[in-house]
Amino acid sequence: MRTQVGIVGAGPAGLTLARLLELAGIETVVLEDRTREYVEHRIRAGVLEQGTVELLREAGVAGRLDREGIVHGGIHLQFEGERHHVPLAELTGGRAIVIYGQTEVVKDLIAARLESGLPLLFETPVESVDAEAGVIRHAGGEIECDVIAGCDGFHGVCRPSIPPGVLRTFERDYPFGWLGILAAVEPSIDELVYAHHPRGFALLSLRSPELSRYYVQCDPADDAADWPDDRVWAELRERTALDGWSLEEGPVLEKGVTGMRSFVAEPMQYGRLYLAGDAAHIVPPTGAKGLNLAVADARTLAEALVDRYAGDGRALDGYSDACLRRVWRAEHFSYWMTSMLHRNGDDPFEQRLQLSQLRYVTVSEAAATSLAENYVGLTTMG
Ligand SMILES: Cc1cc2nc3c(=O)[nH]c(=O)nc-3n(C[C@H](O)[C@H](O)[C@H](O)COP(=O)(O)OP(=O)(O)OC[C@H]3O[C@@H](n4cnc5c(N)ncnc54)[C@H](O)[C@@H]3O)c2cc1C
Repeated sequence: MRTQVGIVGAGPAGLTLARLLELAGIETVVLEDRTREYVEHRIRAGVLEQGTVELLREAGVAGRLDREGIVHGGIHLQFEGERHHVPLAELTGGRAIVIYGQTEVVKDLIAARLESGLPLLFETPVESVDAEAGVIRHAGGEIECDVIAGCDGFHGVCRPSIPPGVLRTFERDYPFGWLGILAAVEPSIDELVYAHHPRGFALLSLRSPELSRYYVQCDPADDAADWPDDRVWAELRERTALDGWSLEEGPVLEKGVTGMRSFVAEPMQYGRLYLAGDAAHIVPPTGAKGLNLAVADARTLAEALVDRYAGDGRALDGYSDACLRRVWRAEHFSYWMTSMLHRNGDDPFEQRLQLSQLRYVTVSEAAATSLAENYVGLTTMG
């Protein structure tokens, strides 16, 4: 079998790339390890930057997103028992975020792909790729490709296929994780609440008018079983308590612990292989960047491939450099938000610094604007 671009992984990066290349008339095959059911129900991110929304619109897959997505023009930062509004849209000339689950983005992209009748092979784990020859190997055979897009997430096979000594990796593990719940209850908040608290960080988020998505900082070694529902609600209530406001509780539909890691592999390309999304970089979720970075890589790679098939390979040669500028900005922002908001041991000096930084962001328009433009996505970083 032969194709122009072989795409490993049907997450946000792989599916977005496949859609953009379809619209450009470039042939692709997408191979995915898991079932369609699994991929469509994997609860992960839910905050879309405006640039991500605009791209999905251009790709013709935003019909439901435009109907069901919830536009937020700000977030709240809570510390020392007070909640402060950061008006993202006001501070960034009208740019906003849209609340729409990654599960829904993935469903929309899969539906579009299948409607076009193009190859999307579920339950087809790629066993190895030959980055130099452009060959993808799976149990059913081999696919020869002009280009391989490694969109197979952090634990995939594409990045490890690059020979030793080529990649330089940068990594930071954090001594905390997030215990996240999805609850069938109307969100108690109008916009996301990021809460700093002596007991640890908490985040109040949502997925829809009927679904709340809440998180509490926990030990990364914790198991979801360590967190019975009562314990989760009690921690959420305490960490987000505010006079005159209460947190509505409801049935917990899903619960899980996520570790936190920063990771970048450089360069994001080798031979005929181009990495995109979590295959090349990971951010802690505090900045809501993971999904948005994956989609942005897909856009950069799609545009470079269009040029390449039109006879100009310069953008493809510069793919990694173009992505890494944006990736490192998001890495820094995610690290900064994480460091500012999480309890890291008992060091009172660090706690005072966090509170000082939080107060600065809420009293200084310059500091708030810096947070806002990073949160909604910096258009000037590619
Ligand atoms: C538990 C969890 C919670 C998260 N929460 C948030 C959040 O709240 N906010 C946020 O911004 N980000 C969050 N993220 C990050 C965000 O979801 C990711 O950044 C995003 O999914 C990246 O998309 P991707 O397409 O690069 O990778 P993925 O979504 O990981 O997709 C990779 C795909 O490749 C497939 N695959 C892997 N190996 C193979 C193989 N050998 N052959 C074929 N297919 C393969 C996988 O099954 C998967 O479908 C979370 C991530 C996790 C893991």
